[in-house]
Amino acid sequence: MDQWKARRGRLVRRVSLALVMSVAAVSCSSASSGSDGSLRVVAGFYPLAEAASQVGGRLVSVENLTPPGVEPHDLELTPQAIADIQEADVVLYLGRGFAPAVEQAAADANGVAVDLLEGLRLKSGIPGEGEPGPVPDPHVWLDPVLYRQLVARVESALSRARPQGASGFKANAAAFDRKLSALDEEYRRGLAGCERKVIVTLHAAFGYLAARYGLTQEPIAGLSPEAEPSAQRLADLAGLVRRDGVTTIFTEELVSPKVAETLAREVGVTTAVLNPLEGLTKSEAATGKDYASVMRTNLKVLETALGCPAA
Ligand code: ZN
Repeated sequence: MDQWKARRGRLVRRVSLALVMSVAAVSCSSASSGSDGSLRVVAGFYPLAEAASQVGGRLVSVENLTPPGVEPHDLELTPQAIADIQEADVVLYLGRGFAPAVEQAAADANGVAVDLLEGLRLKSGIPGEGEPGPVPDPHVWLDPVLYRQLVARVESALSRARPQGASGFKANAAAFDRKLSALDEEYRRGLAGCERKVIVTLHAAFGYLAARYGLTQEPIAGLSPEAEPSAQRLADLAGLVRRDGVTTIFTEELVSPKVAETLAREVGVTTAVLNPLEGLTKSEAATGKDYASVMRTNLKVLETALGCPAA
């Protein structure tokens, strides 16, 4: 696990989405706006940055606080990142202990700072070994229906910070919302009538997705990938995999798959990546992967593992 921890400490890179403002849209209203007049948005991690880019379009420049290839639980911030949070026009983050450093810095933000978990009915997650519990499960973005609610809140945050952009934000949000509705529909169809319902995941990221589409999540680690499982938990999972005929143990790109692979070997099943979308790797970003495309890949992986009619 150490290499993953070490990667977190690296300098936060700015993921400025190279946005060129049209002349008509430039109206420098705020001292803290980008040099091109765009609204400066700082987002805690990928799904929030994606929502801001989709809704903000050309009117925003978005900085993702979580560098590519790093997972955002308990993200540590550089002094520069803390300064960026303070100076941004809009700060989008998840509270409830998902990334306490971001939450703390957001409390001192000069701009509009929004905890996107606020107002959502959160499930309480089963804590992993050593985690205090029960704690609210922050992984709402993996349920397309809840993600749509997040997008709506991003729209209102951007409109609050830049009222003259409100009609543009509204149109962009509506277009993104239609894509997410279509994605939800694909999930409903794809996961109907499958032979199996249990998904064994690396960390407990898929609780909302499982609940939405009638699956049962059995995580190896807890709500944070850092919470390593006990020997008892692994033994229980091995028993469950055999009993329920589970075919696949799911791993993640940004977390070491060692424990999952050991479990899979022991019980003689396969592993596959189920992406919790906590961040994109550099190569995923470079090849144009995004929320919708990764979610579609996840759906295919689930259909195969669960023996769904569509597979
Ligand atoms: Zn997570």
